[in-house]
Amino acid sequence: MLLTGLSDAAAAALAAMRVLGEFREPFSISKLEIFMTASIGISISAAGSTPDELLRDADTALYRAKIEGKARYVMFDEGMKTQVSNKLRLESDLRRSLDAGELTLHYQPEVDIKTGRILGFEALARWPQADGSFIEPAEFIPIAEETGLIVPLGAWVLETACRQMAAWRTSDRRLRHLVMGVNVSPRQLQDSDQLVEQIRRNLRRSRLRPSALRIELTESTILGDDPQMAERLHRLKELGVGVAIDDFGTGYSSLTYLTRLAPDCIKIDRSFVSDIDTHEDKAAIVGALLSLGQRLGIDVTAEGVETKAEARLLESLGCTRAQGYLFYRPLEAEAAEACLLAGLSR
Ligand code: C2E
Ligand code: CA
Ligand code: CA
Repeated sequence: MLLTGLSDAAAAALAAMRVLGEFREPFSISKLEIFMTASIGISISAAGSTPDELLRDADTALYRAKIEGKARYVMFDEGMKTQVSNKLRLESDLRRSLDAGELTLHYQPEVDIKTGRILGFEALARWPQADGSFIEPAEFIPIAEETGLIVPLGAWVLETACRQMAAWRTSDRRLRHLVMGVNVSPRQLQDSDQLVEQIRRNLRRSRLRPSALRIELTESTILGDDPQMAERLHRLKELGVGVAIDDFGTGYSSLTYLTRLAPDCIKIDRSFVSDIDTHEDKAAIVGALLSLGQRLGIDVTAEGVETKAEARLLESLGCTRAQGYLFYRPLEAEAAEACLLAGLSR
């Protein structure tokens, strides 16, 4: 829409709100009620700006409106140009790095809190940069999710992690208890046929037992209002792989779904674990979760254990499984292997 004769930006915003208002009611088409939403980007022509620039800026604002959740309007400002171009650059770099096989996995051990014995690993994606640093998953996973790159990226993670775990487990019979945890995004779970097929194929190719793989899903992934979620989880469990609820306690924290979805493991989020030794409320919550897990036959892992005091308190509450910098940081494959071997010769 090209609106002329508006007095100022506020008038443009008002016009946008009127348009959005029209979309609140369903459209009636061939006796069907169709619900639609609209996203609107607004740019205001300054003296000397060309029609092309005006359209491009409106498009940038539109992109923003979609990212922010759609069904809204966003007014363009100059800062968006760099934000969008940074993001586009990151996206195309990530795509290229993925194709070029430059991504790697680090493996963080999960341990028996009492003995320190390694029970398994969590595979964590790493994006190495030319200068030897890494871009954090917190920065690139959301972009991968937004752009759909998470699907090929997730497939690569699954394949690499399965192959690695199969190699470790067959290298020594004393390592046959190890389990590999792989993080799976909501987007990957959406196409559950593809995900189930992918897992099946990788297990077959790497000759890994299903029980040696654990899929980690965050609470918010599982508890959205998607009615098919229970069915999707069921299909994963039918494969024989474990299912863990990640970042437990940060989402809706409804306890009823623990019985309904029957996960094999819950991973208590770091926010409940850090400083647990000085926060009675955290200790009470974690203690309750541990006994709940025990009753329901669900493994409970404490994430992000950083201090001895935290580990001691967790142990006193009956916690047996832990992950965190106190024990190990995420490690490159060779370093992880060295830790496994050191554990065997102890
Ligand atoms: P997450 O699944 O909760 O993974 C645990 C994160 O906590 C990791 O961060 C790990 O390095 C960090 N961590 C472990 N112990 C400690 C500790 O003692 N203290 C502190 N402060 N942090 C600790 P990382 O590797 O940066 O990954 C962040 C998130 O990115 C992960 O959270 C996960 O949600 C996501 N992610 C990583 N790799 C993948 C992947 O391959 N696929 C998907 N979909 N998501 C991934
Ligand atoms: Ca995880
Ligand atoms: Ca977590």
